[in-house]
Amino acid sequence: MSDTIFHKIIAREIPATIEFENDTLIVIRDINPQAPFHCLIIPKKTIRSIQQLEPEDSHILMEMISTAQKLAKDNGFDSKGYRLIMNCEEWGGQTVFQLHMHMLSGTHLSGGFA
Ligand code: 5GP
Repeated sequence: MSDTIFHKIIAREIPATIEFENDTLIVIRDINPQAPFHCLIIPKKTIRSIQQLEPEDSHILMEMISTAQKLAKDNGFDSKGYRLIMNCEEWGGQTVFQLHMHMLSGTHLSGGFA
């Protein structure tokens, strides 16, 4: 059983600013934002990283993308654009080992990575 900070947020054991939630995923504001809009789209199913995704999880990935589309519309930057990032394991810069996607926008993002 995995027990990351994101599991604790999902279980309401620690606080977070929740932007959206349904049975599949939760969206929270990143505690250390790298852009004016920086959210984390986190599936509720315990999946350590991209490397542990299975074909049966494809609907989760699609729901993460459609949630990003909805957030972009709701926040008025669907035509301006945004950046989605998934860090995988240590070399990819992952620090919380529950699958998540960064969503950044609110300004013209530079060429760097989150
Ligand atoms: P990673 O480096 O694993 O791709 O991203 C983890 C992200 O989680 C980081 O951007 C970090 O700022 C964010 N984060 C870490 N701890 C917390 C927390 O307790 N609350 C929130 N809202 N974000 C967190």
